[in-house]
Amino acid sequence: MRRYVMIGSGVASIAASEAIRRVDPRGDILMIGDEASGYYSRPGLAFYLTGELPEHHLFPIGDQDYRKRNIRRMRAQVTQIYPDQHNIRLENGTILPYDRLLIAVGATAQMASLPGIKLDGVVKLDNLDDARHIIRQARRGRTAVVVGGGITALELVEGFVSRRVKTHYFLRGDRYWSNVLDETESRIVEQRLEEDCVKLHYHTELEEVLGNGGRVVGVRTKDGRKIPCDIVAIAIGIRARKELAEASGLEVDRGVLVSETLQTSAPDVFSAGDVAQVYDPLIGKSVLDSLWTPAREQGNAAGMNMAGITTAYRKVIPFNVTRLANLTTTIIGTVGHGEDDDVVGIVRGDSETWRQLPDAIAAQADFEVNRLRVLVGKDTLLGALVMGDQTLSRPLQHIVTQQMDISSIRQQLVQPGAPLVDILADFWSQLKDGHAVTRHE
Ligand SMILES: Cc1cc2nc3c(=O)[nH]c(=O)nc-3n(C[C@H](O)[C@H](O)[C@H](O)COP(=O)(O)OP(=O)(O)OC[C@H]3O[C@@H](n4cnc5c(N)ncnc54)[C@H](O)[C@@H]3O)c2cc1C
Repeated sequence: MRRYVMIGSGVASIAASEAIRRVDPRGDILMIGDEASGYYSRPGLAFYLTGELPEHHLFPIGDQDYRKRNIRRMRAQVTQIYPDQHNIRLENGTILPYDRLLIAVGATAQMASLPGIKLDGVVKLDNLDDARHIIRQARRGRTAVVVGGGITALELVEGFVSRRVKTHYFLRGDRYWSNVLDETESRIVEQRLEEDCVKLHYHTELEEVLGNGGRVVGVRTKDGRKIPCDIVAIAIGIRARKELAEASGLEVDRGVLVSETLQTSAPDVFSAGDVAQVYDPLIGKSVLDSLWTPAREQGNAAGMNMAGITTAYRKVIPFNVTRLANLTTTIIGTVGHGEDDDVVGIVRGDSETWRQLPDAIAAQADFEVNRLRVLVGKDTLLGALVMGDQTLSRPLQHIVTQQMDISSIRQQLVQPGAPLVDILADFWSQLKDGHAVTRHE
């Protein structure tokens, strides 16, 4: 009987366990995670913070599901891997053997190193315990300062707003999420935040968190302003938890380096999810994603390989359907470029692929709060961003991710002021009817 050990209890480990069980009904599957809560929906934490989702809705599978699949679970922290001996060590010194090992330990929030950062009232949003802690802080807090960028910063802002906490949002630059959104999109988000009474501070950097008796009482900015507050929320990006693999002698870069079959540099050791740095054939580089669907798909491919069925993980064009200032937004493929001053590296719900923009022409259409932007390549769409009305979200997910040949509508799309919605809607209906368009190879 083969012994499979998963380190981490997130979506990548769950998907790997399910794949293994489909192939190997008898193998011993042990999932080791260091969180008391086990497996839950991490993206759901944003809705839990705003009060839209009760806590029990975060748990899609229960004890009976693990029993049914014969998956054993253990709460522990793995501190070392011994690839030569095929063993791992737990925090309490216990040594456990494996035949196949999965490292799926995810990513963790980057914390700023500033005076006062350890004070009670400084928060981050990585996991369920953090979300519970933020909710407790928001019950007694009156004013919050949020620092950072990307989706998590806004989720924190929205969480505080919905809990009636006066919120200041600090931006280092002159607009929100500047390496994914274009200027119009940033302004749409910022305007909606202001309508929700969020005070935006542009060109503002945190210098120090001020405390009294161990608790946050305010912040001081680099330009010398003092703002009283009870909560300081930091969302400046995440980093892959590569330390365990690195300390165990595995090859790492910004994450754990894996082959197309999710194999690490050590025999019988695989890695998947936010911690894995995966080769992207589209851009010819190994990249990090922090996205639910790629984590699940990598986990699935890793599980198949662990169970002996060679399965290549084909990185697909990443997309995310998210919410920015209460506006549903779909981001697909390559849509931005450069750096964002508000974050270090990657953020949650983000993909490095989104910023690998080759030659493309941007075409956009605006209508009230809705916005559509497509990046037009030689004969495919390289990326798309749909803000507000989501009618074209699914068609564009298909057209971009399947690299459909758009040469028949390319000229129309790149005309200034082109009616993009109509052109793309017509194209989609032709596609559905099987006319005029073939899959781009
Ligand atoms: C607030 C928030 C919002 C998000 N929003 C979106 C979104 O809109 N769209 C989207 O696609 N994605 C989103 N994501 C990202 C998505 O949740 C992740 O990509 C996905 O959960 C990654 O899964 P994983 O299995 O790789 O890692 P994780 O789910 O992070 O699981 C890793 C687990 O391993 C545990 N662990 C770490 N080290 C050890 C150790 N040494 N021993 C034992 N256990 C260990 C960790 O505590 C954790 O429980 C969001 C994430 C967060 C936190």
